[in-house]
Amino acid sequence: AKSAGGNRFELADPEADARAITRHGLTTALPTALDRGEFFIEYQPLVHLGDGSVRGAEALVRWLHPQHGVLSPDRFIPLAEHTGLIVPLGRWVLEQSVRQAREWRDRHGGAEALGPLRINVNLSPCQLTHPGLVQDTVEILERTGMEPDALCLEVTESALIGADDDLLKPLRRLAEMGVDIALDDFGTGYSNLANLRRLPVSVLKLDRSFTQSMQRFPADPVDLKIVEGIVSLAHSLDLAVTVEGVETGAQAEQLRILGCDTAQGWYYARPGPPDRLHDLALVDATG
Ligand code: C2E
Ligand code: CA
Ligand code: CA
Ligand code: CA
Repeated sequence: AKSAGGNRFELADPEADARAITRHGLTTALPTALDRGEFFIEYQPLVHLGDGSVRGAEALVRWLHPQHGVLSPDRFIPLAEHTGLIVPLGRWVLEQSVRQAREWRDRHGGAEALGPLRINVNLSPCQLTHPGLVQDTVEILERTGMEPDALCLEVTESALIGADDDLLKPLRRLAEMGVDIALDDFGTGYSNLANLRRLPVSVLKLDRSFTQSMQRFPADPVDLKIVEGIVSLAHSLDLAVTVEGVETGAQAEQLRILGCDTAQGWYYARPGPPDRLHDLALVDATG
């Protein structure tokens, strides 16, 4: 832009330009990335806070871009939502993840050695409003021979704020079939807590910001009270509480004392390839 001074020009922000170019490039490459097989999934264990056992994993998608290398979902999920690719991409993630859960189970002669490992898959708001959601999910469970109760779909709290019955209907159907629904990033969306009763959810995933406040010792007493309150409300509504972003043993211990059920975070394991999850779960089951 030309500055007020006349013939001087402001320098453009080179980083902003690079971001815009990359964004444009990514948007162009995105529609064919699925066909080219450039997406892959990492799995991060979900650990029971009481006994430390691995109970399942969250599926987290990545894009191995031919020029930019591995891209995190924050870089391309918004673009995929914008372009509509999220529907086929989300369906692919769901099928791959459920198939993977089936493989973990099969590899060790049924559920005994590993316990019932469950698989958590993220759903974007666009998938919620897509009419094929229930049928796609049913078909994937049938094709893979997995029970609905091995699957947990994670929906962000913000996607369900002010949700009307039409939006909740597919989630209710899935919940009736036995699929768990988790409210992701809980505590960031300012939703009315009383509203929880209306939602077909069975798990609250407490946002990482709460876990971060447990980093300090002693933790902020107000934060402790808030988490304590959320946990007791959740339990009184028969909801399980999962905490994400656990990076230290001290956080894990604090959250366990506060009554949280399940934890996820770098303290246990970073997201990784499916074999690593399998090994972690197996070591854990065999001692
Ligand atoms: P999310 O669902 O809240 O997933 C948790 C994020 O926290 C993941 O980031 C995970 O790698 C990261 N994380 C796990 N443990 C720790 C920890 O101890 N410390 C810190 N600082 N971070 C931790 P990631 O993999 O980059 O995914 C980012 C977001 O992208 C996810 O947030 C989710 O909203 C979205 N996403 C990922 N996969 C999918 C997908 O298949 N479909 C959709 N719709 N969204 C997805
Ligand atoms: Ca999630
Ligand atoms: Ca989350
Ligand atoms: Ca998050």
